[in-house]
Amino acid sequence: MSLRTGGATRTDARPAGRGSLLRVLLTNDDGIASPGLRAVARAISRVAATFVVAPEHERSAASHAITLHKPLRATRAALGDVDVPAWATNGTPADCVVLGILDLLAQPPDVVVSGINLGANLGMDLIYSGTVSGAVEGALFGVAAIAMSVTAFRDIHWEPAAEFAAHLVAQVAAHGLPPDTFLNVNVPNRPAAEIGGVEITRQSTRRYVSRVEKRADPRGRDYYWLTGAAAAEESPAGTDAWAIAQGRISVTPLRLSMTSEELDPVLRSWSLAAPGR
Ligand code: MN
Repeated sequence: MSLRTGGATRTDARPAGRGSLLRVLLTNDDGIASPGLRAVARAISRVAATFVVAPEHERSAASHAITLHKPLRATRAALGDVDVPAWATNGTPADCVVLGILDLLAQPPDVVVSGINLGANLGMDLIYSGTVSGAVEGALFGVAAIAMSVTAFRDIHWEPAAEFAAHLVAQVAAHGLPPDTFLNVNVPNRPAAEIGGVEITRQSTRRYVSRVEKRADPRGRDYYWLTGAAAAEESPAGTDAWAIAQGRISVTPLRLSMTSEELDPVLRSWSLAAPGR
């Protein structure tokens, strides 16, 4: 199988397919002990050689932070009853993917899966998401990558999302993804029989309204706690948040480039001159 067409990356040097077992690197931002990670590891290990490199504790909202100013450690970990090679690190999801690809795995993976996250990654969540950044780091290495989330925080149905992840990994491996793209998947939190299908979506503009709680600690000093709630706003048909509201799985094709084609002609109509001209 050929997962990528362009770019001189490690994966391009790998001989195509030839019946070799698919290799999947799993990471997440909820930490190595997350039931979502265990569920997806169990499902994917049935169809692929599966390796886990995940943060030792929760790094949700770590976005694409990487660790440059302290030592990174990776220690072998157990994933409960799921028997796959696993490491816990003191790094972020992006660090975990770097360590997995450049050192811990003997050969690079064919697919990176990040998740399954506890909670949605819709709309502007993607800016903060450590889950999404795990997939982004895979894409930066030229590896096909998928971010997976379940859109609830309580009483989670992990199995439908895990099953869909394994299914999607096989599809991604069969078809490949273009360079500098990846997939963001959100699964509604309901039993498989109540999921209404799969929608290919675009990223919505759904966002959180940030709030700050200011309180006093026991020593009388101020401290702050950042919170927020999703802005009450209808998401248009075809968006990620709309698909979830319909009870469907949302699969959003994303790219790494953030260039705005809409803003380009506007900027060209301005008078921008270099200093001294
Ligand atoms: Mn998380």
